[in-house]
Amino acid sequence: MNSKENIFQKILSKKVITDIIYQDNLVTAFNDINPQSPVHILIIPNILIKTLNDINNNHEFILGRMLLVASKIAKKKHINKLGYRIVINCNVHGCQTIFHLHMHLLGGRQGIKNFF
Ligand code: AMP
Repeated sequence: MNSKENIFQKILSKKVITDIIYQDNLVTAFNDINPQSPVHILIIPNILIKTLNDINNNHEFILGRMLLVASKIAKKKHINKLGYRIVINCNVHGCQTIFHLHMHLLGGRQGIKNFF
């Protein structure tokens, strides 16, 4: 096992087993191990992009797919009507802990309104 791989890379390479909710050629989605709401799903690119600071024009399609998949999963999980929150944490002040870009899809209860 390459110890330099982050946990999400290990999930992608199946060295760490988790329930994959959705996967295609560009992105993968799975349940967050420490859910902050009844539905808490992470959507990640299949390639390593460490943070939102590291995206470039070549990633446009991947980023679009992440949102598209989030929207589709939200419908599948029946959280679309009442709504949900999409979060991407970036770097230290964004409280990012896993340095493999990921989108949080949070729903199933009302979030905190005045988040900031
Ligand atoms: P962030 O703070 O935005 O970097 O979020 C990282 C998220 O990854 C946290 O919500 C963790 O609970 C989640 N996480 C860490 N390890 C795993 C894992 N093995 N499987 C699923 N989610 C994980």
